[in-house]
Amino acid sequence: MTATEGLDRETLDMMLASLDEFVAEALPDQRRLELDHEDICPEETIRAMCGDELGVHLVFIPEEYGGLGGGAFDSYRVCERLARVDIGVATSVFATFLGTDPILIGATAEQRKLWLGRIAEEGILFAYGATEPEAGSDLGAMKTTATPVETDGEVTGYRINGRKQWISNGSIADVYTILALTPAGPSWFIVEKGAEGFSSASPEDKHGIRLSNTAALFLDDVEVPAENLVGREEGRGLSQAQQVFGYTRVMVAAFGLGGGWEALDRAIAYSTERVQGGAPLSTKQGYTHKLIVPHAVRLEAARAFLEETATRIDAGEGVGGALNTEGAIGKYLATECGNAAAEAAIQAHGGYGYTREYLVEKIKRDVRITMIYEGTSEILEMTIARDRWQQHLKTSGAYYRDRAQALAGMPDDCGGPTAALAQECLAAVMEASRVGRLTRNQHVLLRLGELVAYAETAGALARRAAAAAAGALPDKADTRFAPVALAAISRVFAREAALKVAEEGLRWVSGAGAWADLATALPLDRVHAAQSGLLSDMNLVADALYGREASAA
Ligand SMILES: Cc1cc2nc3c(=O)[nH]c(=O)nc-3n(C[C@H](O)[C@H](O)[C@H](O)COP(=O)(O)OP(=O)(O)OC[C@H]3O[C@@H](n4cnc5c(N)ncnc54)[C@H](O)[C@@H]3O)c2cc1C
Repeated sequence: MTATEGLDRETLDMMLASLDEFVAEALPDQRRLELDHEDICPEETIRAMCGDELGVHLVFIPEEYGGLGGGAFDSYRVCERLARVDIGVATSVFATFLGTDPILIGATAEQRKLWLGRIAEEGILFAYGATEPEAGSDLGAMKTTATPVETDGEVTGYRINGRKQWISNGSIADVYTILALTPAGPSWFIVEKGAEGFSSASPEDKHGIRLSNTAALFLDDVEVPAENLVGREEGRGLSQAQQVFGYTRVMVAAFGLGGGWEALDRAIAYSTERVQGGAPLSTKQGYTHKLIVPHAVRLEAARAFLEETATRIDAGEGVGGALNTEGAIGKYLATECGNAAAEAAIQAHGGYGYTREYLVEKIKRDVRITMIYEGTSEILEMTIARDRWQQHLKTSGAYYRDRAQALAGMPDDCGGPTAALAQECLAAVMEASRVGRLTRNQHVLLRLGELVAYAETAGALARRAAAAAAGALPDKADTRFAPVALAAISRVFAREAALKVAEEGLRWVSGAGAWADLATALPLDRVHAAQSGLLSDMNLVADALYGREASAA
């Protein structure tokens, strides 16, 4: 991806407003509940969204092919809004984007013009077929083959055989990008609906996103012409898929954010009405500070990381998959926190949350998928940990120490110095792991991935809070929270990150048999001292969320 300005603010706002309007009309709460209950994908509504009526798909297509040329920041904002409505519908729209990714990245100019042009003009739906029954996280185990068909000694086509599993839009797409093994390795092929030998199974009966069509695909001697090999070169499939992970994971991260916030906002509204113990639940600190505030804080932390990553991708930094680790951190945290927020929203509704009417149980079932597709949380932990571990080794431990120093110089009230503490602790935990050779334990490595995500996100949130205070947030940034509230959010999250890195770092390092050095290297006194003021900051965040008198918002 090269640098892109994306949509101007006015166009983005217009798209978000049109989306809200369209959805209010086509997919009100009651209809979504019915579709979920009956397990029906509203194909016509999805086609209307990706057609002339709304044209949401145009955001993802470059202007030269008839789209609006949105960037990663625009995609994050649109995906979050879509997910607030329904993550199943959002998945269906996203599947077209994902399906065209190999084309966007690896196709010839001719192929791009043809297929991206058709999506822009006709609103055709795509599906992305990578996963197989025995190849999920490990696509290297795939078995689907594409055998060259030769005419007069020249490759004129391919014969594809195999099976794809859990493909979004599987039985409703018009065109499919299918990953198959050629003699030179995995390669993407374009397969059109109706091709001889190509069929799909009945839609899956799923835990959530029941408005999204998910189906297995069968390819039995499906012949495609040689020009349907993406890029007209064999063996480039996996690298083409990996090049856009930074971008696509930002989009799925936004699903986690949208699902989490939608559930939480419903709980916030409910708690102002529901009276127990003589007063609305929103006035009970034991309720808000367990079920609402920590989740709002973590979701906004994830947002800070996503906005920073999307801005960098749009600035052209993500070329060749350069920001894949950042995409992984953003997706990991936003989806884990979105899922936890939805779970808390059920609890916040009590028995009503456990029934269907208030929608939070549906949102909880829906948001759960975001921790599985586009890289499971465990695979993301591994991706994050491996990359940052290399950075730690390459810089002889300076990677996080340097970053901590930059954060330590930030104003206290934006949470920078406490975020610095989190990264200082991370440097110590990594060093203890290096000395004790602890990453030979896969569990230690993956736990490091989690700690990296928290520590780096605390840094991003501190920078976002400082930018908000200086009136310097990106033009298209979400502005739900006023700068004073955002600073309180940042201080709460930074404290959590510092404590988590120190305590869990110690837990796993000592658990793997190397306690003594880390216990002395960690600035535990400062981490504990930094917790001072936590409750009053949580009060501030609660006031902001409920728009109360003493409000910081
Ligand atoms: C509703 C839905 C829609 C989907 N849409 C699409 C789509 O449109 N296109 C597409 O191609 N795919 C799609 N998928 C597939 C999805 O991307 C995969 O399910 C996902 O990548 C995980 O693969 P898997 O299910 O085979 O799980 P596995 O890879 O078998 O993983 C099972 C568990 O083991 C863990 N694990 C795996 N490997 C390791 C390891 N090395 N070390 C430690 N732990 C590990 C995982 O984190 C997970 O917890 C969809 C799936 C669903 C459910």
